[in-house]
Order: sequence, then structure tokens, then C-alpha cells
Amino acid sequence: MDLGLHQARVLVTAASRGLGAATARRFSLEGAHVVINSRNLSTLQQTAAAISGETGQPVFTHAADVTDPEAVKRLIRSTVETLGGLDILVTNAGGPPAGVFDDFDLEAWEQAARLTLFSAVSLIKEALPHLRRSNRPAILTITSLAVKQPVPNLTLSNAIRPAVIGLTKTLSQELGPEGIRVNSILPGITDTERVSELMAGRARKNGTTIEAEYAKAAQDAPLRRLGKPEEFANAAVFLCSPAAAFITGVSLPVDGGAIQATL
Ligand code: NAD
Repeated sequence: MDLGLHQARVLVTAASRGLGAATARRFSLEGAHVVINSRNLSTLQQTAAAISGETGQPVFTHAADVTDPEAVKRLIRSTVETLGGLDILVTNAGGPPAGVFDDFDLEAWEQAARLTLFSAVSLIKEALPHLRRSNRPAILTITSLAVKQPVPNLTLSNAIRPAVIGLTKTLSQELGPEGIRVNSILPGITDTERVSELMAGRARKNGTTIEAEYAKAAQDAPLRRLGKPEEFANAAVFLCSPAAAFITGVSLPVDGGAIQATL
């Protein structure tokens, strides 16, 4: 199936590794022109070179902290200058720290809200004037299965990520009449660098092995395994593409069936 992404102008934030990098790679394989972002320029450049080397498409970089609204303004401005406009925005950021309610003071809550919610707000706010000029505009927010089913020991994520879904759904209603689609993907446990660090930490804490922790995590999903970043990316790129032109306001789990709710 042709996804209709040839030469689409795409920004993926928080994309030096993990889900963001896999998504950027998939866009690039589809012939899109992509800007990737994260805070560290040299890591970002390595990722861009790896993707571009594989796909033969240009992949551009702009280092910025997505929790800084001024840096986000500069990121969008330079993206639009580099790509000659913007068709697709994928909002991603690192996850807030793990822990239970007693672990966090108000400052930690504010930081988590800046990372998870306000980064998406400022990215979308700055990108919208440019998306309004596109003939295939789409926004994708990356959230978590935690929005449907709280994950133990992820209090900040469980509490704040649902606001991003509220934003996604509301924007799909407000922007639908203009032809701008807004969707979200809810990843389950997907085998990124972050998750391998998490498994190593669990193994140390529990006195087990990394392999044993992976095997335990795999039991969470009916498919009895972790997701692969490229499986997440396939869904992300499809939802953003003209092939999904009648899909908006959707929160799509890509979780191997881990969410237990019927709907
Ligand atoms: P990761 O840690 O492997 O990658 C995160 C990326 O975000 C990196 O490129 C990092 O440099 C960048 N980043 C972090 N903070 C940033 C900031 N302030 N500004 C710009 N860039 C920043 O994580 P991942 O596993 O790819 O997950 C991506 C997102 O999806 C996270 O929010 C994570 O919590 C969420 N998530 C992941 C999983 C999973 O199993 N991998 C499951 C559910 C939700």
C-alpha cells in the first residue's frame, strides 16, 4: 500500500533513540523528509546519519529541550525553514520518573507536567499555523497504555498522560473541520533502550537476571512478548499518512493486547 508520504515534511521530537527514532526511520523509508529532535546534538546527528544512510533520504536535526517553550519556538521555526513547511508533527518526550505518590513533591509534579503535557501543547501551538497551510496535515501524540490502565509505580505518568489524550481528542474535534487530523498511540512495553535500562534496574533490585525480567514483562500481554520499536513505528506512520485520511480522534493501543478493558 502506498501511504502517500513521499516528500511529506515531518517533525518527530524526542527522536535520538527509541520510539521516536524508529518512527522517524519509518517516515524516511516512505520517502518523507524528516527533522528529528532531542536535547543532545551529537547523539541526534548519529541517529540522523544512520537513518539517512539506510534510506537515502535527507534527515535533519535540531537539538532542543521540548520542555522549554522558547526552544520549541526555535525548533518549529528552523524545521519549517529547513523543510519548506510542515505536514506532520509527532509529539514525543522522555517519560516522567517512576515512583509512587509519596515519592514526589509539587516541583516533581510540575516538571512532569512540563515534560508530558506542556511540551505537546507548545509544540502543537507553534506548529499549527504551518499545518494549516499543508494539504496533508496530521498530528500524532505519543502517550502510553497508562492512560487506559494505570501502571504500578508510574504515578506521574498515570495521572498526567490522560490530559494529553483529552487534548488530542479535543483538538481532533476543533481542527477536524479544517482537515487537520489528530490521533494518539498508546504504546505497551516496547523494547527500546529505555526499557532495557529499566529491565537492568529491576534485575539489580530483585536479584534476578535481565532475561528473567524481560520474561516477566512479556507475561503482561496476551501476545506474550514485548513490542518492537518498528511495530510501533508502522502504526504511527500509518495514522499520520493520507492512507488514514478518515481516521481522527483515535487513541490506538499498540500493546500486544495488554490493556484489559473491553473498549
Ligand atoms: P527513550 O528513553 O528510549 O527515548 C526518549 C527520547 O526522548 C530520547 O531520544 C531522548 O533524548 C529524548 N528526550 C527526553 N527528554 C527530552 C526533552 N526534554 N526534550 C527533547 N528530547 C527529549 O524512550 P522510549 O522508550 O522511546 O519512549 C518514548 C516515550 O514513550 C516516553 O515518554 C515513554 O515514557 C513512552 N512510553 C514508552 C514505552 C516503552 O515501552 N518504550 C511504553 C509506554 C510509553
